[in-house]
Amino acid sequence: MKILICDQLNNKVLDELKQLGKCLDISSSENKEKDLLENIVDSEIVVIRSGTVLTKEILELGKMIKIIARCGVGVDNIDLEYAKQQEIAVTNAPSANIISVVELTAALILNAARKIPQADQSLKNSNWDRASFMGIELHGKQLGIVGFGKAGKLLSERMTSFGMKIVFYDPYIKDWKGHEQSTDLDSLLGTSDVVSVHVIKTDETKNLLSKDKLDLMKKGSIIVNTSRGGVLDEDHLFKLLQSQYLYGAGLDVYENEPPSNTEKLKNVNITSTPHIGASTKEAQLKAGIDTVENIKKILSGDNSVVL
Ligand code: NAD
Repeated sequence: MKILICDQLNNKVLDELKQLGKCLDISSSENKEKDLLENIVDSEIVVIRSGTVLTKEILELGKMIKIIARCGVGVDNIDLEYAKQQEIAVTNAPSANIISVVELTAALILNAARKIPQADQSLKNSNWDRASFMGIELHGKQLGIVGFGKAGKLLSERMTSFGMKIVFYDPYIKDWKGHEQSTDLDSLLGTSDVVSVHVIKTDETKNLLSKDKLDLMKKGSIIVNTSRGGVLDEDHLFKLLQSQYLYGAGLDVYENEPPSNTEKLKNVNITSTPHIGASTKEAQLKAGIDTVENIKKILSGDNSVVL
């Protein structure tokens, strides 16, 4: 069985895959696109992360593909509909990297509250400017979580230990029994000191935090998005930061990646990271191990992990 590995995987994961078939790793090839088109033709398993896009045109070449394994959460880089038509089993590793994403989220919240990157840069520029870095304490403040799934709940656990009151908006969660309070989106935005976005990207969540919704946010509050680009109106967010209506922000994901408007990221209280939520050694290893397990399950006839 030929296994085509398109993006970089942990060595331990590669060793496991080698037990399952003949692996060809094109992840560091100089001409990856050409290698992908040539080698997809006789591959039975294709393993990708976010760095490879499997369009219908590419998949049409892969007449022998049985499994596409996405080593990570999002499958927006795979033409899922076409894959399903061709009876290709597509699988992913949805929970492996969630702790890493949440830890980055907590860091972005703290950065916004205390302007840590700006203070660091100021000192490194040989300034001893304490007056510019008056921050905000999180203790006793309200955190509003938009999308209360795996990431949202883990963030709640962590920020509860900071003494924050937690409210959430998630229309798909009914009769919540935890200490967090369920609310509607407008109330959450109007009353929270920190808003953190953890929805999945769907037609419904696209531009969920539109200009009008962002305008409902409390003056002097903070917003962080580590979920997916396009769920909030970035241009309007920058306007609210420039006018100092909002205190600060943190973004790991952007409508266009890489974002074209990096100038706007300068001179406002925003910490911006290049979609690195899942970029930890632990997350990559866990995602790899889950991916191998999923492939083994599908090969043994267990389709419970097929999307
Ligand atoms: P999840 O599926 O467990 O949770 C998503 C939640 O959003 C669900 O509870 C769902 O009910 C809720 N939701 C759906 N539509 C909604 C709406 N209209 N309004 C409010 N809530 C809505 O997902 P997760 O594992 O917690 O992941 C959350 C996000 O984090 C996803 O977008 C995922 O792609 C992203 N993510 C980012 C990175 C990164 O590198 N930054 C890495 C992994 C995951």
